[in-house]
Amino acid sequence: MFRLHALRYRYGQTAELRFPDWSLQQGEQAVLRGPSGSGKSTLLSLLAGLLQPQQGDIWLAEQALAALPPAQRDAWRGRHIGFIPQRAHLLASLNVLENLQLAQYLARLPQDAAQCQRVLASLGLIELAGRRPQQLSQGQAQRVAIARALLNHPKLLLADEPSASLDDANTTAVLDLLQGAAQQAGATLLIASHDARVHARFDRQFLLEARV
Ligand code: ADP
Ligand code: ADP
Repeated sequence: MFRLHALRYRYGQTAELRFPDWSLQQGEQAVLRGPSGSGKSTLLSLLAGLLQPQQGDIWLAEQALAALPPAQRDAWRGRHIGFIPQRAHLLASLNVLENLQLAQYLARLPQDAAQCQRVLASLGLIELAGRRPQQLSQGQAQRVAIARALLNHPKLLLADEPSASLDDANTTAVLDLLQGAAQQAGATLLIASHDARVHARFDRQFLLEARV
C-alpha cells in the first residue's frame, strides 16, 4: 500500500528528520511509535500529502507521490486517504451531520447526506447526528472524526494520537472502532501513538528514534 524510499524532511533550518524505508501491504494495520518530537506527526503529514519531502519519496498504491503535480496530489489524497487528526476540529456552528457534509464539500466529494448518515449508522453514531460539537464528549468527537475520515472510502487510514486525553474505556472503544472500520473496508491503517495501551493492540510496530 505504501513504501517509503530514503524519505527526509526538514522544517526550516532545524535538523533533518530521516525515516526508515518502511512499507505496509493493503489491509495491514500498524502503530507508529516514538517519543514526542521523533517525527510521528510529520510522517503522517507526509503520507497524507500535506507536507512535501525535500528528499526521498513515498509510493502509495504504486504511485510515487512526488511524481504527481500538486493538483493531482490533492485529488489523489481526497480520493484515497482518510486522516484523523489529534483534535477533531469540528466546526462549532454546525451539527455532526453538517460537519460531515462540509467535509464532503471540502474534499470535492458529491454532497450526500444519506451517505453521511450511513457512515454514522455503521459506526453506531447516528444518535449524534443532530448534536453540536460542544455537546460531544472527547471520545464522541474522536468517533465523529473517524466517521468523517471514512466518507471517501479511503485505502489508507491515518490517525494521529487517537487516544490522547481519552480514558481507558474510551481508548478501547475508539480503537475498536478504528480497527474494525479499517478491517471492514479493507483499508490500511497506521496509527501514530506513544500510548502503551495502543501499542499493545498491534503486532506490526514502526519505531522512530528520539532526536539527538
Ligand atoms: P511527534 O509527532 O513524534 O511528536 P513531530 O513530527 O510533531 O513529532 O515533530 C518532529 C520534530 O519536528 C520536532 O523536533 C518538532 O519540534 C519539529 N517540528 C514539528 N513541526 C514543526 C514546525 N511546524 N516547524 C518547525 N519544527 C517543527
Ligand atoms: P505532537 O508531539 O503531538 O505531534 P506537538 O505539540 O509537537 O504535537 O506539535 C503540535 C503542533 O505544533 C503541530 O502542528 C506541529 O507541526 C507544530 N510544531 C511542533 N514543533 C514545532 C516547532 N518547533 N515550531 C513550530 N511548530 C511546531
